[in-house]
Amino acid sequence: MKKLVIIVTITALFVSCNEVVKSQEKDDTNTGVIEEVAQEVPPKPEETEVWEPVRAIVNPNGQKGAPSDAIVLFDGSNLDQWITARDSTAAQWSLNGDGSMTVKDKTGDIQTKQSFGSVQMHIEWRSSPENTAKGQARSNSGVYLQNRYEIQVLNNNDNPTYVNGQAASIYKQSPPLVQALVPTGEWNSYDIIYHEPAFNENGEKTKSATITLLHNGVLVQDHFSIQGTSEYIGLPKNDAHGPAPIKLQDHSDNSGVSYRNIWIREL
Ligand code: MG
Repeated sequence: MKKLVIIVTITALFVSCNEVVKSQEKDDTNTGVIEEVAQEVPPKPEETEVWEPVRAIVNPNGQKGAPSDAIVLFDGSNLDQWITARDSTAAQWSLNGDGSMTVKDKTGDIQTKQSFGSVQMHIEWRSSPENTAKGQARSNSGVYLQNRYEIQVLNNNDNPTYVNGQAASIYKQSPPLVQALVPTGEWNSYDIIYHEPAFNENGEKTKSATITLLHNGVLVQDHFSIQGTSEYIGLPKNDAHGPAPIKLQDHSDNSGVSYRNIWIREL
């Protein structure tokens, strides 16, 4: 009889404990349900809207095809924005009557009077049908960002060369994703988004420059991290620098390359 009482008591205790646990689970469940109900209140669209600061208005065709907030570096009328790179005298390249200019052989590279950091830039160029030289000698020029990082200009129509030196390459660093040239003698466009590198107080590079390039509207450089200066021989260099001019190359081999419609927006 005594044994039976003990068994009944233990059984009753077990059942009781189980109910307590179940009760707690229910409580927890109930708490969760209440919270979920609170979260289900639909958010208002206004909660994620940002109204200020109001954005500046830019007319994309504000000035001879350039955005209204762009600095026009060349519109065909003069070379006032440019100087000869080697001696800072007036640019000697040929001003044509059709809104373009052409490299005047061996007069040297030209560069902007103004210096720039990070920019969006548009430039159009045309190779010369008269230039039928091979490889790097066929209409070689180049657009240098901050006076040291070259986007290659070259006529690669039926003219193979090393791919990291063909048109739209970052010279000797990054071949274009595809070759997007128009036929020889027609106008190419480069649309460039460039972010300058950063250096610390010791002159060490802490962030690489990056470039995204559209060649005739086709993506050919996709946020490429520039390794350093464009070098014909040897590896890129990374001396510290600040804002610097845009430079156009005279490759000194009668390239015959022409440029037009050059504008830039500081970022
Ligand atoms: Mg070049």
